[in-house]
Amino acid sequence: MKPLISITDDMIAVHTVREYNDGLLYCPVCHQKKQTRLIWNGSPVVVSCMCRCEEEAYEAEQKTFRERERMNTIRSLKASGLQDPMLKDYTFEHDYSTDPVMDKAHKYVERWHACYENNIGLLLFGPVGTGKTFFAGCIANALLDQCVPVLMTNFSKIINTLSGMYNEDKNAYIESLSSYDLLIIDDLGIERNTEYVLEQIYSIIDARYRSRKPMIITTNLGLNDMRNAAASDIRYARIYDRILEICQPIPFTGKNYRLEKARTNMEIARQILLYDSFYLSSTPHNNQVFQNYISSPKPKKREPPQEVKTTPNSWCSKLHQLCWLHLSSGGS
Ligand SMILES: [Zn+2]
Repeated sequence: MKPLISITDDMIAVHTVREYNDGLLYCPVCHQKKQTRLIWNGSPVVVSCMCRCEEEAYEAEQKTFRERERMNTIRSLKASGLQDPMLKDYTFEHDYSTDPVMDKAHKYVERWHACYENNIGLLLFGPVGTGKTFFAGCIANALLDQCVPVLMTNFSKIINTLSGMYNEDKNAYIESLSSYDLLIIDDLGIERNTEYVLEQIYSIIDARYRSRKPMIITTNLGLNDMRNAAASDIRYARIYDRILEICQPIPFTGKNYRLEKARTNMEIARQILLYDSFYLSSTPHNNQVFQNYISSPKPKKREPPQEVKTTPNSWCSKLHQLCWLHLSSGGS
């Protein structure tokens, strides 16, 4: 049913024309009715209604309102779902790698509904610095942008939170992790593996398993490490069995992105300190922007600083000279 609106006499006088053939008011712009007849308590009455342009304005206002609500929801989901602020930059837009493994992250997001319905999780395993957290962060951000409730955290943080709680609160907290449609837990296997820690990890994994909702786990452990640990210790076996039952293993064997990023940062620092002008990227780790910069003609090189004559033997002056020589030689 069309929403009814009230129109003042002034508005009627300015914005409408009267159509004398049916006695109702019409809009001069869209020529649609601004009044209509209804039966009220058995008698005919004339009431105001929206013409087409008013309906369109109302719809546009509602759309803006819904979009604002959606953005607020995403903002609040990201605030609670991405516990490490650095994760906000782990997005597909910031992916400049050529690693084909990232295709799987895109597919996971594109086919999220099927993954969710079939409880398809992922186990991202491989050496440190090979992009597992970035892969998981891209999935988290892309799904959060679609208003999917995602929590990305790590085992250390969960264990720390649990350690200050009473049993009832612990159970409630672990159950609360299952309220998210996707739970991503980073860095399985880096915690102190005490009896207590293993028991808590099992509780978390088991609660998620019973919720029949997917989870993504990253670990520096290899599949053989997990198999060997499981074969020799029942406490590990029940954790890893649960994980491997619902999480599809994806190996990460690519280059070490952390080392590459460190090299890039060092080169950026060298360029900033050596040259008179420098194209500063808004995202310091934007390799593509940096590659564009270093392949462009270089600005004029600065002269090296002179040794401070007044304090020729000070350690500060020597250090300054040494740093300069190090940077000038390529920083390697
Ligand atoms: Zn109109």
